[in-house]
Amino acid sequence: MNSARRISPRVFFVLPLIVVALLSLPVTIRFASAQKMSAAEKRTRSHANAETPAKSAAPAAAENDYSKKIKEYTTEKFFLTELVDHLPMSDTVPSPDKVLGYIVGTPNKLTYSKDLYRYYRELARTSKRVRLFTAPEKSEEGKEQILVAVGDEATLAKLDRYKDITAKLADPRRISETEAQSLIGEGKVFYWASGSIHSPETGSPEMLMELAYRLAVEESPFIQAIRKNVIVLITPVLEVDGRDMMVDAYNYRKANPGKNAPGLVFWGKYVAHDNNRDGLGMALALTRNQMKTFLEYHPAILHDLHESVPFLYTSTGTGPYNAWLDPITIDEWQLLAYHEIEEMTKRGVPGVWTHGFYDGWAPNYMFYVANGHNAIGRFYETFGNGGADTIDRTVRAESQRDWFRPNPPMARVKWSLRNNVNLQQSAILLAMNFVANNKDRFLQNFYLKSKRSVAKATNEGPAAYIIPASQSRPVEVADTVNLLRLMGVEVSQADQEIAVKDQKFAAGSYVVRMDQPYSRMADMLLDTQYYNVNDPRPYDDTGWTLGPLRNIKTVRVPDSAILKQPMSLLTTDARVRGSINGSGAAGFIINHNTETTLATLRYRLKDVKMSAAEASFKIGDKQFNTGSFLIKAEGNPADVRRQLEAAVSELGLTALAVDKLPDVKTHSLGVPRIAILHSWTNTQNDGWYRIEFDRLQIPYAYISDQVVRNTANLRDKFDVIIFPPLNGTAQAIVNGIPMRGDPIPWKQSEITPNMGLSPDQSDDIRGGMGLTGVLNLQKFVQDGGLFVVVANTARLPIDFGLTTGVSIQEPRQLQARGSIYNAKFSDRNSPIAYGYEETLPIYFNQAPLFQVAAITFGGGDGAPAGRPSGRGSLTDPDIVQGMPQPSPTASPSPANRGEEQLTEEQRLQLGAFYVPPAQRPRVVLRFASDEKNLLVSGMLAGGSELANAPAVIDVPVGRGHVVMFATNPMWRHQTQGSFFLLFNAALNFDSLDTEQAAPPARP
Ligand SMILES: [Zn+2]
Repeated sequence: MNSARRISPRVFFVLPLIVVALLSLPVTIRFASAQKMSAAEKRTRSHANAETPAKSAAPAAAENDYSKKIKEYTTEKFFLTELVDHLPMSDTVPSPDKVLGYIVGTPNKLTYSKDLYRYYRELARTSKRVRLFTAPEKSEEGKEQILVAVGDEATLAKLDRYKDITAKLADPRRISETEAQSLIGEGKVFYWASGSIHSPETGSPEMLMELAYRLAVEESPFIQAIRKNVIVLITPVLEVDGRDMMVDAYNYRKANPGKNAPGLVFWGKYVAHDNNRDGLGMALALTRNQMKTFLEYHPAILHDLHESVPFLYTSTGTGPYNAWLDPITIDEWQLLAYHEIEEMTKRGVPGVWTHGFYDGWAPNYMFYVANGHNAIGRFYETFGNGGADTIDRTVRAESQRDWFRPNPPMARVKWSLRNNVNLQQSAILLAMNFVANNKDRFLQNFYLKSKRSVAKATNEGPAAYIIPASQSRPVEVADTVNLLRLMGVEVSQADQEIAVKDQKFAAGSYVVRMDQPYSRMADMLLDTQYYNVNDPRPYDDTGWTLGPLRNIKTVRVPDSAILKQPMSLLTTDARVRGSINGSGAAGFIINHNTETTLATLRYRLKDVKMSAAEASFKIGDKQFNTGSFLIKAEGNPADVRRQLEAAVSELGLTALAVDKLPDVKTHSLGVPRIAILHSWTNTQNDGWYRIEFDRLQIPYAYISDQVVRNTANLRDKFDVIIFPPLNGTAQAIVNGIPMRGDPIPWKQSEITPNMGLSPDQSDDIRGGMGLTGVLNLQKFVQDGGLFVVVANTARLPIDFGLTTGVSIQEPRQLQARGSIYNAKFSDRNSPIAYGYEETLPIYFNQAPLFQVAAITFGGGDGAPAGRPSGRGSLTDPDIVQGMPQPSPTASPSPANRGEEQLTEEQRLQLGAFYVPPAQRPRVVLRFASDEKNLLVSGMLAGGSELANAPAVIDVPVGRGHVVMFATNPMWRHQTQGSFFLLFNAALNFDSLDTEQAAPPARP
């Protein structure tokens, strides 16, 4: 999976240099001649069962050119097996070289998606054993995604029948036990191989072409067995946008020897490596395509092909394993992995192993379209060179022997693309052959797991989840329901009021029953996670509970009586229609409920004047939150009602038309010009922001750090600049890509046609914003702009002194990786808090720990919290020996650490360093003050460091503001509950200086 954590972006800049050096070596590229092979030349080899690897027996005929090249491009004999050391030629079906002009795994050749597709179309045209389908959605950059099926001619002729069989086995409620057994006997297993979700991992799209061809034409009993019992599905390249960008970047590097080449700045339109963290949010077309394809074919196995560690890691994981899966699935991971390890090891291939590398906990990976749906999701990590070069590689940690790696990779190796192809293809063929030989077992298990998922409601439970009707944010509730439906989960709606134990739920409440095939996926999303900090270090997020992240209520119901309540299954997506109530002529009021479509409304009606109420108020018996939108008829277009009606109806909002607007202080609600700022070193995190702004139709300018560097008066162009999280020190963030060597372009050109599809382009991506950019940002804020920094980008204003009074504390014991924590608004007068209730569960990933102080140079003294070491228990008073004892009230602890109300004595000592209260950082949201009440879902140790720490801080600077987020309010399309923290800041950018709430009472 090539975790960004493990491979720094630097690799992408260093690699081109190595490659450039290699380029000067003579590389022979021989194009395969398109000569026709006679039938006699077809290789027929005997390797019927995997248990007896045949060492290259004397071929019946002279070796063909393709097979010769396979050997030539393989660096060592032991990186080749008898399964892939040859390729039979066919009279009618073209091998890859006949269409592409080169064999799969040829040095220096990477294939564009259009050419991959051209090959598969030829294959499907010429072989009755191959069929080709188009995925439901195009990519974000408008490219087609295809699916290829390979199997026996007779099998493919009845493909619909086999789809029907697996669909029935997937839903045991529809069939009897006898029928199930007969279907298992008749059925075939779909084994789905998915190529290159990660674009710098370049080998699988090449390998899969050869695999498809081999499966279609080879007549060895080994391959025949696969064709007979398995229908192989192939996704040639999943991240099709990123693949083409990668081939561009590679070709640029080859065409410009001696020059620095760009790293892969953009993969898909929005995100890079995180395209494999979209399994929970399904915000990307590629994830939705995989989900829909799974629900159409019900493959027993989805095999995701990655390249990051040597030489072949086959997935099982270290644990802790996802606690919502049927244990059978976890057993099957081991079964398949150890089969491959044994067979590859028998063949003398070094470095095939499992267990380490990742944990197996979070369900945010793409292959949860299988794991979450009673099938098997698995992956390889093979050794990729990030291109198609043959280079000397050093293997570090993985070359160590360990209990799970008795056959480790070698420490030093010459590695080629063909080696990578050989290992991937050999192992996946072994897995496919094993599944073919155990076809009934895998279908039986799939059926059994499906049955056990239906039985879950009355066996281990819970019986259901309820998402109550009449929550304050109906659009968010509907979105959540529709996400579950997208995942194939059945959602019902209560026909009448439901009573469960002491709780009542209104008619129309949504019920997610656990007596359905995909109960485990739903349970996994809606339940609470607990990750023990003593377990292996988590590979990714540890908590992801949907309800708290979206700030909606979900109720776990263990009592199976719920299943007998009258309810109706939803047959279409949930939809909330908004309306205008009342007929008053003075204006309109829309309650601020933090529904994300409120932000859409502001921009859709950008010419309508709106204002925000600075206090809550009542109209009749209806309570309106602080921040509610007020629209006066006077001063607005005559057809404002018509405009508003059209908008709220579609956006699911409710407006009230009144004869008199409430008597409440207001400020005008602007239509700020927003910029999302990106660095050329990494664009992934800002991609998750762009995806939400695009989805909610909130306009923004996407600007690079170079624009900040080159624009002296940013305030003329923008009101709000948002800088999403970016790793590294403040200096690294500011400096960007070093100004060494020649310019590095990222733009459309003859050799890089796909880069023109990127969201941003530049003639030279070096240089970052530099100190000029920092000064431009400072002026932007001084002149009244709002600069929003999130997580690590807060280092920029803090370290470069744009702000004072906030520092970042290094955690000592805190372990809080990718989890959900309770937070409480500490200043509900701040517009950033508008529409929210008193508390909000928020996402936080380990850093930063902010500290605020009343003095200019500080951020608190960093002293450990709690009582000093001394006598007695935690709550007992300490006693100084031989001295008079002070009264217990003599030194009260401040309500909030670092924010002491300074004594007159301290004020005098501080002089100019004393910051008057109005200019101090304003903490709007804090993590829960009680350590025991912090964790909602995920992991926590050393929580005293997080307790009461600021989560959102508004720092006044000149006429503007810097707003700092410790939480990431837009994380992977999962944190919808926090979106409005950001929208509130933006929409009220010029009115953030509302009167501060009184500090909370001291305990
Ligand atoms: Zn990967």
